[in-house]
Amino acid sequence: MRDVAIIGGGLVGLCAALALQHSKRCITIIEAGNLEQVQAGGLNARSIALSASSIQIFRALGIWPQIEALAAPIRQIHISSRGRWGVTRLQAADYELDAMGCVIENQALGRCLLDAVEASRNIKLQQKAEFESITQDTTVNVGYRKKGRLQQLEAGFALIADGARSPARAALGIGHQTIDYGQAVVISNVEVSKPKIDTAYERFTPHGPLAMLPLGGKRYACVWTMTPPQAAQAGEQNEVEFAAALQDCFGYRLGLIEAVGERFSIPIQRTRADALQCGRCLLVGNAANALHPVAGQSFNLSLRDIACLYELLSEQSLVDLDADSFSALADEYEKLRLLEQRQVIRYGDGLVTLFSNELPLFDHLRATGLGLLDLLPALKAQAALAGMGMAFGGNRLLRGHL
Ligand SMILES: Cc1cc2nc3c(=O)[nH]c(=O)nc-3n(C[C@H](O)[C@H](O)[C@H](O)COP(=O)(O)OP(=O)(O)OC[C@H]3O[C@@H](n4cnc5c(N)ncnc54)[C@H](O)[C@@H]3O)c2cc1C
Repeated sequence: MRDVAIIGGGLVGLCAALALQHSKRCITIIEAGNLEQVQAGGLNARSIALSASSIQIFRALGIWPQIEALAAPIRQIHISSRGRWGVTRLQAADYELDAMGCVIENQALGRCLLDAVEASRNIKLQQKAEFESITQDTTVNVGYRKKGRLQQLEAGFALIADGARSPARAALGIGHQTIDYGQAVVISNVEVSKPKIDTAYERFTPHGPLAMLPLGGKRYACVWTMTPPQAAQAGEQNEVEFAAALQDCFGYRLGLIEAVGERFSIPIQRTRADALQCGRCLLVGNAANALHPVAGQSFNLSLRDIACLYELLSEQSLVDLDADSFSALADEYEKLRLLEQRQVIRYGDGLVTLFSNELPLFDHLRATGLGLLDLLPALKAQAALAGMGMAFGGNRLLRGHL
């Protein structure tokens, strides 16, 4: 019997395996895709912003040096509101940190995680293996199809990490709620003439935030919130037209926008599972919470879920995990995580409503809010720590060790 089954080998499933192997458990990941497939690179690469809390967790798992080598650090965040005087700056040094976070291409992060998984003797990765069924009594039995054959896996417990649509969550009968914010985000990498290394920009416009995240060299990832018709229009613009519109909205802080990569637009939605547990199964990652990308928090939050679970599991030996003790552990996991998840969701929703509203009152609040934030170090520190994922209490992985 394998100790833990993880359904879904996306970024979260792989990270969960890398953490839980240190709680002296053997892990099998069931992943439908082929993780070796190379994704788009260069100006068309997709990227992810990692918070300081995620850096700490990767440090604890011993894979931070590999990730750091491929990531662009964020040491300053410059926040402004279009057409208003309010500006605030957050600096890593003010919080005694080397970096507030970093940006890395999804493909590069995935490769680092996959290398670590493949090097582990305690993790077995089943690729091109499609989850089909799940039943549970004193153990969990997962049915999956690989090379046309139906196979069974028996495990002490299972983590459901198969994404926002989560077939496993549906098979367990856990419902979910999706909220549509009636907005869209347009994502594109650009090249600028005067890059400011280590600096990320967040600029608030009446239609929503525009983030420019450093990817290293002249490349920045642009994450631009718009109304759905504006997003459709941005998708139809040629590169010159899009660069001109972006330049007009962002200004010249990074010089000229010289090149624009592929653009894609996604609706701003958030999906939330109705429960984080069911018997011997726990939900993590997008299967539990798929937040909208405006606040760049979903993956970072999921890593903190994993850090919490690792802490709880490390306190238990495998033999202790009978039905009652697993149920107590699952209750504790749900209680601890719901608290933080609600705070992060409120923070993300606040960003969308406060910074995506054309009413003059909101415009005024945006400007004064940013100006005041810059003058009030305690408030600013609180906002910065929340953004970095460092405001929600600690555990061993968050402190950077196993
Ligand atoms: C545009 C964009 C920008 C973002 N930026 C940030 C950011 O800056 N910071 C941040 O923290 N978060 C960000 N996020 C969120 C982040 O990308 C997600 O939180 C994260 O990728 C979720 O990973 P996951 O492993 O839970 O889900 P997924 O990536 O969806 O992985 C699920 C896995 O399950 C597998 N699977 C599905 N069905 C089955 C099945 N039947 N059998 C077996 N396997 C199955 C899939 O193949 C997949 O590999 C962003 C998201 C978007 C869309």
